[in-house]
Amino acid sequence: LKSPYAGGHLEVIVGPMFSGKSEELIRRLTRAVIARQQVAVFKPALDDRYHVAAVASHAGRSLDAVPVPDAAAIRAALNGEGPLLAAHAGPDTPPVWPDVVGIDEAQFFGADLIPLVLELAGEGVRVVLAGLDLDFRAEPFGVMPELLARAESVEKLTAICTVCGAPATRSQRLIGGRPARFGDPVVLVGAQESYEARCRLHHELGH
Ligand code: ADP
Repeated sequence: LKSPYAGGHLEVIVGPMFSGKSEELIRRLTRAVIARQQVAVFKPALDDRYHVAAVASHAGRSLDAVPVPDAAAIRAALNGEGPLLAAHAGPDTPPVWPDVVGIDEAQFFGADLIPLVLELAGEGVRVVLAGLDLDFRAEPFGVMPELLARAESVEKLTAICTVCGAPATRSQRLIGGRPARFGDPVVLVGAQESYEARCRLHHELGH
């Protein structure tokens, strides 16, 4: 067996920042690479922390990944239109799906990620996705709720609360050292921004 599920299926890894989602994604995908399965890894192009073309964990491990602007670009790359997978498909050959598709920071993709991963799973691909289940306000993040509902397997990881040491389920956003407010824009130009892992009790929104 390639995984606990025979045939195509969805595995989702969620949790707050610093909970080890990228580490766990890298661990699962590396096993598949070692077992000589065909593995394709994608991440949103906007996440350029550490390496542009790699999934990187806060602890320093990394795995090559193709940065893509959206889900349509994942489909195009899998169809052999991108540079990475050109070896597997040409203009005259039908697409050959990899055995495993990994997607990091899945929360940044749009709703069109859902039909793509359902199609892949339906055609026998093991799809492993990692992403934030909650945004900095502790609200469900974008496409993640539907992914969680549709997945065969869900692993919810915790970090360690930087205030009390309890298991942390939320990502505390700080702007200039103070808790971000509910309505603060997601991207702030020029602001001193940071994030900390927090438990339910110590996650705060500014007023
Ligand atoms: P994620 O992808 O969920 O953000 P990563 O896999 O990138 O997580 O990083 C997890 C690593 O972050 C841990 O192994 C640890 O080295 C580091 N880390 C930093 N702060 C914390 C924290 N508060 N709790 C747990 N791990 C932390």
